[in-house]
Amino acid sequence: MTMTAPRVLHAAQNDPAPAPRRIPAPVSRWWRDASGVALWALLVGVTALWVAHGGIQDLGSLGDGLTSLGRLTGLIASALLLVQVLLMARIPWFEQAWGQDELARTHRLIGFTSFNLMVGHIVLIVLGYAASSSLGLWGTIWDLVVNYPGMLLSVAGTAALVMVVVTSVKKARARLRYESWHLIHLYGYLGAGLALPHQLWTGRDFTASTVATWFWWTLYAVATVSVLVFRFGLPLVRSWRAPLRVTDVRHDAADITTVTVAGPGAARLAAHGGQFFQWRFLDGPGWTRAHPYSLSAAPDGTTLRFTAAHVGDGTNRLATLRPGTRVLVEGPYGRLHQGVRTRRKVLLMASGIGITPMRALLEDLQQTPGDVTVLHRVRDIESAVLSDELAALAAARGARYLVIDGPRIPDRETWLPVSAAHLTDADALRHLVPDVHQHDVYVCGGPGWMDAAHSALTTAGVPAENIHLERFTY
Ligand SMILES: Cc1cc2nc3c(=O)[nH]c(=O)nc-3n(C[C@H](O)[C@H](O)[C@H](O)COP(=O)(O)OP(=O)(O)OC[C@H]3O[C@@H](n4cnc5c(N)ncnc54)[C@H](O)[C@@H]3O)c2cc1C
Repeated sequence: MTMTAPRVLHAAQNDPAPAPRRIPAPVSRWWRDASGVALWALLVGVTALWVAHGGIQDLGSLGDGLTSLGRLTGLIASALLLVQVLLMARIPWFEQAWGQDELARTHRLIGFTSFNLMVGHIVLIVLGYAASSSLGLWGTIWDLVVNYPGMLLSVAGTAALVMVVVTSVKKARARLRYESWHLIHLYGYLGAGLALPHQLWTGRDFTASTVATWFWWTLYAVATVSVLVFRFGLPLVRSWRAPLRVTDVRHDAADITTVTVAGPGAARLAAHGGQFFQWRFLDGPGWTRAHPYSLSAAPDGTTLRFTAAHVGDGTNRLATLRPGTRVLVEGPYGRLHQGVRTRRKVLLMASGIGITPMRALLEDLQQTPGDVTVLHRVRDIESAVLSDELAALAAARGARYLVIDGPRIPDRETWLPVSAAHLTDADALRHLVPDVHQHDVYVCGGPGWMDAAHSALTTAGVPAENIHLERFTY
């Protein structure tokens, strides 16, 4: 089997390993399993309350039956809407158990399910009421909207949710600027809030028993408090306790900037190599928009550092930052760290700018010479970001650092360059890392490349729980 040799910028050797760093606690599956069970328990609880309030008995006649099913779909849609809010509330235990990547994907899946159920709720309720009324279909719709308490608000809430869902469909989203999409997405909170009054005032399942009232109020309260505490309160407290300022801005290339920040209390942020923060720089009007960047060096207790490629307004602005600029951070987030590792051997696999968390991981991971391989896929060797630092670190750690350069293979979903077109994705992987199936693998890069790398790893025999992913886009 042949393949154009990767640039071996450093092979394993037996240099002594540096002093060990603070090791993150192993990520337990407990929260993951518990939150999965809690979701199903919630749906069973919602259904049980519907049954207790006569949901099944009502199925006896057409009008009542449709209305009853409409109630059930509406209740489950509301519960899932609140679960969605919880998933994106950045609750540290969930975040560490699932990772942002999986949380975002689950959020999307639950979002579309909740929306479809909400549409089902509207259709079933309208048909159910129309079947028991002499007003006809349009008369019933008018009557429901105008005469039932809270309904005008819920129509506005539905419009907000329709806007969120339409702009989240992949094709529509690709046409929108990230800022516009994100702003519209925040209307989801408004939609959830505006749906509440009609549930309170007309929803029999909300008010029929003390248990039901408590159940729903608790759910709304937990979602609201979680957002307030974890999305706003905790980041504010952290930024106040650990004030940070820019200390260095390095221009690595025309389109790459490395920013270092420091300040008292940076150690309190308890970050690990491979994690990311949401960053805001108080240097002008753009500060309101936070950007996620991964640490590109292992945190040393006093400084934090990231490296970013210029792709738009926010990243271009990094090159103009001045030392002394105040910095606000949210995080650390992400589970791309030593805590998810269960095997001695590690493969750090990245494409393009996705190498930045791998650089920090290489520095942070506990290792003996030969344990770690870094595999960096780049367009051309000149665009191998942080290559000098990676080569030096690999030399110090006894790690292998391989750069696979070259243009993409046209018309093939692959992680390989054109020079490896004669190989399957998995064979090329086994060729470079023969015992890859015995590794924990950390993967970061563009979405298409990551999908191809993931599938090659699975084919090469790496179990799903040993593949750790971080996408640079949601
Ligand atoms: C977990 C994570 C870690 C990241 N780490 C790095 C890193 O270490 N180095 C690096 O160069 N890039 C990183 N990125 C990508 C980086 O956040 C975006 O490139 C940057 O925010 C683009 O902003 P912009 O205004 O320059 O460009 P825009 O033109 O506004 O955006 C370009 C694209 O970047 C993505 N994007 C923009 N803003 C955000 C945001 N706030 N959240 C998520 N995605 C966004 C969108 O997909 C958008 O289409 C990371 C992204 C994520 C999600």
